[in-house]
Amino acid sequence: MAPRYTTVSGSILEAVGDTPLLEIEGIYAKIEFLNPSGSIKARIAKYMIERAEQEGLLKPGDTIVEATSGNTGNALSMVAAVKGYRMLVVMPEGMSSERVAISRAFGADVVFCGKFHVNDALQRARELGQQPHHFAPSQFESEWNVEENRLILGPEILSQLPSGRVPDALVLGVGTGGTLIGVGQAFRAVNPDVRLFAMEPSESCTILCGEIATHNIEGISDGFVPGIFERHAGLVNDVLSVSSADAISEMKRLARSHGLFCGPSSGAHMLAAKRIRQNFPGLKTVVTAFCDEGEKYLHEYFMQVDATGVDATHFR
Ligand code: PMP
Repeated sequence: MAPRYTTVSGSILEAVGDTPLLEIEGIYAKIEFLNPSGSIKARIAKYMIERAEQEGLLKPGDTIVEATSGNTGNALSMVAAVKGYRMLVVMPEGMSSERVAISRAFGADVVFCGKFHVNDALQRARELGQQPHHFAPSQFESEWNVEENRLILGPEILSQLPSGRVPDALVLGVGTGGTLIGVGQAFRAVNPDVRLFAMEPSESCTILCGEIATHNIEGISDGFVPGIFERHAGLVNDVLSVSSADAISEMKRLARSHGLFCGPSSGAHMLAAKRIRQNFPGLKTVVTAFCDEGEKYLHEYFMQVDATGVDATHFR
């Protein structure tokens, strides 16, 4: 069998992408948590930084500054570590402690701004990014984010589907919207009728009703409709909602039943995909992604010990 990776430059960035597509319970799930830094965001972090270098926007010795709910911060911190840039992660309080620690492990500085939602962090990152020798990739706005997903992730999934199959539906939560829109564009090119479903937490119905509330599906619905989604909203057919509680129990079930240790958005994606298969029998090839690893949520969901010292995780 050919090795999955060949030795190229000796950098871990060569191992970004080329993740498995798993058929599970009738759904095609791209196993993105296997990316270096533990999430799908390794893709756009590498892509946006390399594009900025090509355009001369980022030079040796510069500082990268980005607002993030955590995964893009972890991914950019990894890229900055490999390439020798300083990294400033601007994130709200209330995200999983592992996400903060992972950015720090890669040598980044973390600035806290606001609580849970990313709005205040965005404003702060914008200000910091305007300083000399600073560069802000601006993932929520950047067409480079969409471009990576259209040119790399989308075609990768298409090449992994069983031969003769084209996607009938794609469902993903919206953080930046880059994955849904970019992969959606790639899918539309092979099936103009593919249905694109955005998913949001039922507690925070932002896209559908303009509401902003706290929820526990970290990484999506950050408290506003991102520029990318607004610009390309015409591509999206429908918006589904999944509750945080359901997402978290599905996340735990994926680990126990399938050995897939991923985060809450993966649970929500799986539930939304199964609902699409049930409600739209004509949509047979339904694609989603498991975006980040469960290790990023150990303290939140997997390490509770009750008053008697018994590990309470099994009873939840
Ligand atoms: N799931 C998780 C865990 C994420 O971190 C993100 C991105 N923040 C998403 C889903 C959504 O991806 P996108 O930004 O492309 O909408």
